[in-house]
Amino acid sequence: MLRQTSNASPALDAAAIRRNLLLWYRKHKRDLPWRRTEDPYRIWISEIMLQQTRVAAVIPYYERFLTLFPDAAALASAPEQVLLAAWAGLGYYSRARNLQKAARAILELPSFPRDYAALLKLPGVGDYTAAAVASIAFGMPHAVLDGNVLRVLSRLAAERGNIKSQAVRGGLRALAETLLDRKRPGDFNQSLMELGATVCVPKQPLCGDCPVRLHCQARQQGLENQLPLNGARPTASRREKHLLVIEKKGKILLWQRPADSRRLAGFWELPERDQVPGALVHGELAGFRHTIVNTTYLVQVYRASIGSCPKEFRWLSKSHFNNIPLSTTAKKALAGLE
Ligand code: SF4
Repeated sequence: MLRQTSNASPALDAAAIRRNLLLWYRKHKRDLPWRRTEDPYRIWISEIMLQQTRVAAVIPYYERFLTLFPDAAALASAPEQVLLAAWAGLGYYSRARNLQKAARAILELPSFPRDYAALLKLPGVGDYTAAAVASIAFGMPHAVLDGNVLRVLSRLAAERGNIKSQAVRGGLRALAETLLDRKRPGDFNQSLMELGATVCVPKQPLCGDCPVRLHCQARQQGLENQLPLNGARPTASRREKHLLVIEKKGKILLWQRPADSRRLAGFWELPERDQVPGALVHGELAGFRHTIVNTTYLVQVYRASIGSCPKEFRWLSKSHFNNIPLSTTAKKALAGLE
């Protein structure tokens, strides 16, 4: 008998599920750069980058980041502007800053921390990342619980409770720990995450290709498209933004967000129209949408001119744009100039 969820599903066959998942993973796992290494530093970087960001988007960043910062020492000593420029486009920039703080903490230790508790002490490392790095890099028996794993487990067990509730998560965590293969925890964790990413996807899971379909209670009950239940999604809001491209002798007028800015601290931005009331607007250059978390910005970009450089703005040469952290909105707006 494995465990009961709040909705009392029948027992799951843990040994068979474990075996089928590992066999399937060996055969079907995607060839991803961080799966070709056992270096805990590289595995840790990949896990941080993959938080909130899709695999396909992460790959080029991961490779470039590791060329620039091949080890904790290189990352610890990187100038902040270079670090943020390497991260620009991945979003959630506190991740980059925490990586650097953690790299500095690692340098104070005799070696890269191996166990879950020591990993958890690093800035920016929570339950998920500590369990992922401990199991994948060091073979420690810790189950991971990310969005993909929660979805797969809630379907396997036909969990009808809200997966955002602590009680339901606690039940699913216990299930993950029970299913975990203690001899190959890294592969097992990755098999569950891989299944969630490629087969047991949020909408219309590909149950015909699933290695655990015979054990899946959601499928047996015809609930695979209804589960998991996670409450209502927050409604996305919309905002308009009017950006100005003001160019003079090959230089563009920009401003830098302060170091204590809540978002994108240290990043360079184009001026918004109401920041430079003295600017003369000549015409529209481009328009695009840019979504950050639950807000979609409808951005209009105008060409404009101005007499003198307003306080707190700088003229920066376009040839320097690769070396400074430019916000994604500014990059998109300036793409139209080329
Ligand atoms: Fe997910 Fe379908 Fe597999 Fe169940 S059978 S775990 S719903 S893909």
